[in-house]
Amino acid sequence: MHLARFPRLSLGHFPTPLEPLENLSKLLGGPKIWIKRDDATGLATGGNKTRKLEFLLADGLQKKADIIITQGATQSNHVRQTIAGAAKLGLKAKVLLEKRVTDFGEDYQRSGNVQLDLLLGGEIVAHLPGGTDMQQAMEEYAAELREQGHNPYVIPGGGSNAIGALGYAACAEELLYQSSQQRLRIDHVVHATGSTGTQAGLVAGFTATNSHIPVLGISVRAPKAKQEENVWNLASRTRELLGVPGDLPRETVVANSDYVGDGYGLPTESMLEALHLLAQHEGILLDPVYSGKGMAGLIDLIRKGHFRKDDNVVFIHTGGSAGLFGYRQVFEK
Ligand SMILES: *Cc1c(COP(=O)(O)O)cnc(C)c1O
Repeated sequence: MHLARFPRLSLGHFPTPLEPLENLSKLLGGPKIWIKRDDATGLATGGNKTRKLEFLLADGLQKKADIIITQGATQSNHVRQTIAGAAKLGLKAKVLLEKRVTDFGEDYQRSGNVQLDLLLGGEIVAHLPGGTDMQQAMEEYAAELREQGHNPYVIPGGGSNAIGALGYAACAEELLYQSSQQRLRIDHVVHATGSTGTQAGLVAGFTATNSHIPVLGISVRAPKAKQEENVWNLASRTRELLGVPGDLPRETVVANSDYVGDGYGLPTESMLEALHLLAQHEGILLDPVYSGKGMAGLIDLIRKGHFRKDDNVVFIHTGGSAGLFGYRQVFEK
């Protein structure tokens, strides 16, 4: 694996800190929980998409794009970070949003990430009904722009293609380096998984380096079998892009979909408990859609004895706290 062969911009603050969660570990009675602060990547309140965008936007620049296009749910962290990255490059970002969640009123539609999208100079060209084929809508919009003489660079939802996933192959390398520096044996990595680029990149990176660190993705949307299939497909394509020989063993891709609740972006009791625990015992802000459910899964699995007491478990905080403001209603109940 030789990541320096790929074009890459510098958009964030790396390496992100890898820190112990002393209070939470004590509260739960072990294992030792560590947090990888990818919420602190620094790009307009940060988050995991920044790593992907370093490779994606570099590819866009190389292809001489004059407009960046992407899509996501109303409170998409990916859309916010994409607009911020484009702003730094002096490029206009035009985005399509999907009303995938409709239950949380005015704040959800306009505050949080949506407010930041506009502040960062993004143009919301459409706010489409839930269930719209967003990839298709985006391709049609890109075709329109091309007819007008533009050269748009289209970034898929969540930045999850093989180029974007390189960002998390780089994170796997970064974790291995920190593990050596801090003399920390990492037994498990756990994080929230959605559009799959994060887990696919990590699995590609850890397998390409023969480090055998197991990664567990806590799904925020898709059922287990589907999520594992999607992650495996993207991880395989990412390995191919990296020139890693051989097929990716199926068992390296593990997802758990027990913490989705009623659906994407819909609050659960365990998510709310996780948010309050991390806020009030560690001073760390999680988010309601991704990292909150990911941490809820980790906490529940710890309580069920899934890990050994002396394991070192690294939770990747993928960001998203800007979305908290879209969910004010949920916290006032
Ligand atoms: C997008 C996102 C994820 C999920 O990452 P994927 O690469 O889409 O699986 C997790 N947490 C936050 C805060 C996100 O914005």
